Amino acid sequence: MSKFLSSRYTNVQPYRPGLQLHDRPYVKLNANETSLPPSPAVRQALTDALVEGLGRYADPYCLEFRQTVAEVLGVSADEVFVGNGSDEVLAIAFRTFFDGETPVAFPDITYNFYRDWCTTFGTPFVEVPLKEDFTVDVDALAAFEGPVVLVNPNAPTGLALPVADIERIVQARPDRLVIVDEAYADYHGESCVPLVAANSNLIVVQTMSKSRNLAGAHIGYAVAQKDLIDDMRDIKFSTNPFNVSALTAAVGIAAMRDTAYLEQCMAEAAEQRARLADELSARGFAVLPSRTNFVFTRPEGLPAGELCEELQRRGVLVRHYNQPRIADWLRITVGTQEENTALLEALDDALAEAANAC
Ligand SMILES: *Cc1c(COP(=O)(O)O)cnc(C)c1O
Repeated sequence: MSKFLSSRYTNVQPYRPGLQLHDRPYVKLNANETSLPPSPAVRQALTDALVEGLGRYADPYCLEFRQTVAEVLGVSADEVFVGNGSDEVLAIAFRTFFDGETPVAFPDITYNFYRDWCTTFGTPFVEVPLKEDFTVDVDALAAFEGPVVLVNPNAPTGLALPVADIERIVQARPDRLVIVDEAYADYHGESCVPLVAANSNLIVVQTMSKSRNLAGAHIGYAVAQKDLIDDMRDIKFSTNPFNVSALTAAVGIAAMRDTAYLEQCMAEAAEQRARLADELSARGFAVLPSRTNFVFTRPEGLPAGELCEELQRRGVLVRHYNQPRIADWLRITVGTQEENTALLEALDDALAEAANAC
C-alpha cells in the first residue's frame, strides 16, 4: 500500500477472479466462461463502418442496446441499464442504493463480490447462512429488514430457487430493495424479469459473459422500474458516461438478438452437465443438482484443495474456495465434450496416483 492510498480504502479486499495462467495450455474450467464462440452474428456486426466510426464516442445512453434487451425480454427500454459487465452494473447498484448505515443481507455462501463491494463502499452487511443442505433460507431473507442481494441460481452451489420464493422475499417488504443477480438464468430457464412490472423494489441483473459466450466483451444489464434505472444512470453519468464502447454495444446487440443460437448452446450445456454429474457421481463424489453451467462437487479420494492443485499440475483449472462450510467442495465449469473428457482423465490420473501413494 502506498502512503497516498485514500484512508477510505485501507480495508479494501480486492476480489480474486478465477486464475488466468499462461505458462502452458490449460483446460479452463474455473470461471464459468465458455470456450464456445459467440453467435455468428457477432462477427457480422464488426463492420468497416463500425471501425471507421470509432473516432466518435459511443451513445452514453446505449439506446439501441437497451431497446434490443427490452424487445428480447419483453420490457421497455426505460427499464434497462447497460454496463461493462454485470460486475459494473452490480457495483453501480450498490453505490446508488446502499449507504454506510443500513446493513445489506446476502447468503453466507454466494458470489464473493457482494462482500467485497460492501467493504469497498463502506456498507455494513449481514451474511444469512444457507441451510444445512445449501439451499437459501427464504424465510430469513424475507424477514430481514434491509436490502437483500441474491444470485439465482446461486453460485457456487448451482442450486436454484423457484421464482415464487423470490417473489415472496420481494413482496414481504415492499419498502426495501431486492437485487437478484441472474448470471446463470439462461441455463436455469427461469427469470424474475416478469416480476419487475409489479414490484417497484426489484432489480434483476443479467450478463452476456456466462451464457452468450461474450465474457471477453464484458456486457451486463439490469432490468427494473424506470425510477431505479434513472438513479443508476445518474450515478453512472457522475463517474463514467461512456462505460460501454461502440464495439461492445455492437457485438452485444448482435448476440442478444440470436435467441436460436442461445437455445442451442443451452441444450448442449445441459447435456454436458448431465454427463459430468453422472461421471462424478460414479466416482463417489457428492454432486449438487445444478441449474447452471457448473457443478458443485465434494470429491472422494483426495481433499478438494489438493485435488484442485493436482488438476492444475495436469493442465486443468477448477475452482476451490478455502472458506468456511465449502472448503471440501470444488466448483467445476461444464466445458465442451472434449474439455470434460480431459477433466475426467486428469481426475482419474490424480486419484490413481493418490491411491497408489497410500
Ligand atoms: C460471473 C458472474 C458475475 C459477473 O459477470 P460479468 O458480467 O462478467 O461481470 C456476476 N455475478 C455472478 C454470480 C457471476 O457468476
